[in-house]
Amino acid sequence: MDFRLSDEQIEWQQYCRRFAREVIRPAAAKHDREQSTPWEVLREARRWKLHGMEYLEKVASDPGGLFGVIYAEELHWGCAGIALAISASSLAAAGIASSGTPEQIAQWVPECYGVGDEIKLGAYAVTEAGAGSDVKSLRTTARLDGDEWVLNGTKIFISNGGIADVNVVVATVDPELGHRGQATFIVPKGTPGLSAGKKEDKLGIRASHTGEVVLEDCRIPVEYLLGGMDKLNAKLERARSGQSTGRASNALATFEITRPFVGASALGIAQAAYEWTLEHLEQREEDGEPLMEQQRIQQTLADVATEIEAARLLVWRAAWMGRNGVPMTGGQGSMSKLKGGDVAMWVTTTLMDLVGPYAQSSECPLEKWFRDAKIYQIFEGTAQVQRLVISRMQRQEYAERRKAVAEAAAKATGEPVEAGA
Ligand SMILES: Cc1cc2nc3c(=O)[nH]c(=O)nc-3n(C[C@H](O)[C@H](O)[C@H](O)COP(=O)(O)OP(=O)(O)OC[C@H]3O[C@@H](n4cnc5c(N)ncnc54)[C@H](O)[C@@H]3O)c2cc1C
Repeated sequence: MDFRLSDEQIEWQQYCRRFAREVIRPAAAKHDREQSTPWEVLREARRWKLHGMEYLEKVASDPGGLFGVIYAEELHWGCAGIALAISASSLAAAGIASSGTPEQIAQWVPECYGVGDEIKLGAYAVTEAGAGSDVKSLRTTARLDGDEWVLNGTKIFISNGGIADVNVVVATVDPELGHRGQATFIVPKGTPGLSAGKKEDKLGIRASHTGEVVLEDCRIPVEYLLGGMDKLNAKLERARSGQSTGRASNALATFEITRPFVGASALGIAQAAYEWTLEHLEQREEDGEPLMEQQRIQQTLADVATEIEAARLLVWRAAWMGRNGVPMTGGQGSMSKLKGGDVAMWVTTTLMDLVGPYAQSSECPLEKWFRDAKIYQIFEGTAQVQRLVISRMQRQEYAERRKAVAEAAAKATGEPVEAGA
């Protein structure tokens, strides 16, 4: 085992940090205040090859799997809202990559980013009122009418929702089958029946646009169904006949792979808050004594540093497992997201306590990092839901381990395996 970053990983980390410091940080306060989309930063990110197809190729080129999580942490160190504005299209691209045919992936993934100097956005629209964690209850419908699909429903709290060029929409084709009756569709900007609903006025990540996507008799060609008709029909048939589609476990496995990026994003906020507080406290005194000499301060800073390092190790391990095809049967991806989000929230509040009343002021950067941290316990699976996923995966893993031990013992002794072993 070698925990050191390679020369390429260090170079990439420094490159991403430089972009965050020189381009993101100077624009952060304005877009946070105005709650505006940072188009000029998106254009710069493209110029720096940190947005779009060149970025995707770069991330895929790291055999250790860390380029993506390093990128997420460093850009979020600059500003979480702007970093999400740069990277939210990747959610749509990931949705296309996991469900689409090779032809659909080749056509639509570039459309989520734009090519050349053109900047385009993608949105991945799943959540509805009453159906966020509870995905099987989606009410948006997709009905086949001749050679078109007709979509109806409203998606809420969608990153880039209402401003995206490509909407990747999950809808139900057969409500009786729950999540097994759902399918994913491409709905391009300008499609009649597609409109932008309310834009959310948010506590944090304010540079990232969040809004509703409204679908009213929205007609799309049949080939905009991701994966194609044959695959959908076969899936529905298996579900109706009571056979397992394997889809739930596939979706779980996909989430395990994408969650470390969210954990890394949260860590960027925690790391930014920690670095700023160290510098701030170095310059402060109490009764003539430097604050950093006080043991109570040292105790807290040690806990902060340790929590951040622990979360980062979980994130890096899960990213490495994802890249190298090591199954995350113990919920290692979910663990990294859960820990990253909880650490970001705990670190920002703890550091605010150390800094005192100034931390409440909007002049103090901790105030923004505190606001930005909360969402990492909510989206991409809430902290509570992560715990359920981890708990279920752990139970299953331990049951399989017990079975394997019992089988090995039975083989050695020639005794039959006990029921329930
Ligand atoms: C800024 C922002 C951006 C977002 N971007 C997107 C996006 O791009 N695409 C998208 O599809 N969605 C997006 N979402 C939606 C987000 O993923 C959901 O809000 C989230 O999954 C929670 O779902 P919910 O809103 O239905 O809340 P609920 O599921 O109703 O949760 C409410 C509370 O109940 C808890 N809870 C729910 N079920 C259980 C359970 N079984 N056991 C214990 N506790 C439980 C939750 O943890 C939470 O604390 C975004 C949300 C926000 C705020």
